[in-house]
Amino acid sequence: MNTCTYASAECLEACLFTAGRAEYLPSIIEARVAKTVFLHENRALFLESVQADLRSLRNYCIKHSTRKTPMTPATRPNGTTDMAWLGMWIADNNPDIQVYDYTKLPKAWLRVRSNYHLTFSYSGHNLSDAIACLAHGVNVAVVFDTRKGRKLPESWNGYTVIDGDMHDLRFLDPKGVVVGLRAKGKARKVDSAFVVKTNGTAPIGQKPAFVTFAA
Ligand code: SF4
Repeated sequence: MNTCTYASAECLEACLFTAGRAEYLPSIIEARVAKTVFLHENRALFLESVQADLRSLRNYCIKHSTRKTPMTPATRPNGTTDMAWLGMWIADNNPDIQVYDYTKLPKAWLRVRSNYHLTFSYSGHNLSDAIACLAHGVNVAVVFDTRKGRKLPESWNGYTVIDGDMHDLRFLDPKGVVVGLRAKGKARKVDSAFVVKTNGTAPIGQKPAFVTFAA
């Protein structure tokens, strides 16, 4: 079952499913595979379980909201998949929930909704799709070889780069920017077009040595 129609050979190799806690806990990868198989075998039941999880999330936010600090439920359904229909289905069926995803599927702006935010992912082979997304107001995520604690480049192909590692709430990002990410998991070790080379940047707090990069 291919859940990422536009995955490149390189991004398959360096996919985020190898990053974070999954790097050390195989059970996390096993759980992700089990969920994908569940979806493949019984889509209706899978969607019911998604709705049950979202009900719990909604109730949690209601319980812990205060007038001073209201909580808005948000979900990122395609953590390590790229299924356009799933994000749109969740957004359409849960208008009070903020849904957001990264995607490599072209023309991402056509799938955006008031409660569904998309960030297009640069793979090293989809520059024209990335530029088209920026032109239509959809931000583009670019992975740089910048190390943890170092500054990301200031711009990429003429667009301002923001630090996407500060948080993962992409729907809070300004529009028309490149979301810079530092390579994580296997991506740190893979030499590919997926990870944009920077020739090194300055430590955070200092002026970067190199500021503009083209793909
Ligand atoms: S989740 Fe993203 S990085 Fe991973 S294989 Fe799919 S498209 Fe590539």
